[in-house]
Amino acid sequence: MNIPGVILQNNMQWLDYLLIISIVVAIFAFMLGNRGMRRANQFSRPPEIHTELVCSDCGFKEIRRFKEGDYIGLETGEKCKKCGGPTFVNLIYTPTSPLEEKS
Ligand SMILES: [Zn+2]
Repeated sequence: MNIPGVILQNNMQWLDYLLIISIVVAIFAFMLGNRGMRRANQFSRPPEIHTELVCSDCGFKEIRRFKEGDYIGLETGEKCKKCGGPTFVNLIYTPTSPLEEKS
């Protein structure tokens, strides 16, 4: 009669102990994970700005990396790849996700 009671008590203490340890581990993992994600974001995905050029002759759109001095409406002096006409900056944006960038 006495032995099962002792085992139960020990189990309860073990469970409490495990619970505390797992909570502490979870908090640590959460903190480390957050830090890791922030670092990964900083280093692997620098803010990328894209410029959309539109040909004023045929309307052909081309997207390239943002260059210093780009602004909306700027005539870039770059030739349209389709017809060789003059292109101007139509849009400057940062892609929110790599998936959207591809589409
Ligand atoms: Zn064109």
